[in-house]
Amino acid sequence: MQKYKNAPKRAKTHFSPSYGLGIAEIRLPRIRNIDDKSWFFCKFAVEKKINKFKLVAQQLFSSGLLENAVQEFSKLPGIGRKTALRLVLHLLKQPENETEALGNSLISLRKNVVYCKVCHNISDTEVCNICSNAARDAETICVVENIRDVMSIENTQQFRGLYHVLGGVISPMDGIGPSDLEIESLIQRVQSEKIKEVILALSTTMEGDTTNFYIFRKLATLNLKITTIARGVAIGDELEYADEVTLGRSILNRVDFNNTFRQ
Ligand SMILES: [Zn+2]
Repeated sequence: MQKYKNAPKRAKTHFSPSYGLGIAEIRLPRIRNIDDKSWFFCKFAVEKKINKFKLVAQQLFSSGLLENAVQEFSKLPGIGRKTALRLVLHLLKQPENETEALGNSLISLRKNVVYCKVCHNISDTEVCNICSNAARDAETICVVENIRDVMSIENTQQFRGLYHVLGGVISPMDGIGPSDLEIESLIQRVQSEKIKEVILALSTTMEGDTTNFYIFRKLATLNLKITTIARGVAIGDELEYADEVTLGRSILNRVDFNNTFRQ
């Protein structure tokens, strides 16, 4: 170690392993004024790391079926090859009928799930149970980005109106324009039904705001109230930790104190 005192203590390395191909690529930063010995010392340390990655990447399975299952699981978001293997081995340990139930539920989900023809929410029937519920306020539509937002708002138990799922937000960077979303069907719905209020409940991002504004422009000529969900300091937050934009918006959009008592 003494001999290579000029070598950097830690070689900064950037790995981008491609598990599918069993390849680990590495880019070494340019190191100036370094003697050959130190350079080879670094190279050796880096190659050791690469080989460790290759071991995971080229993990050999004794069964092609296992390999297939691991590959399929590792396609899921947030699941790496190691986690995939752990899940697959766990399933193998379970009783056969439980693994079958999991497989069947996935097949049935993929084959039978439909999207509500009114609000585009996920459903088992042509019209979802929210749209077909007569007890709900059919004059108010809450516009959301995706199905998970419907679930989030439903969990609050504070909204009794209907929904309209856009399926995303306008994002030119990702090539998503208004025609890729369920905006036209929202306008038709507002025109054909007796809608009194449209609540825009999209993300407070630039894309969300762009979509809000686009919908607002499209609906502005119609005789209805267009609102957006409140933006401000979150419940339980301390003011000193709130960012300036949020805090500024909270001051501008201050509410009557009486309203804060409402549940
Ligand atoms: Zn519906």
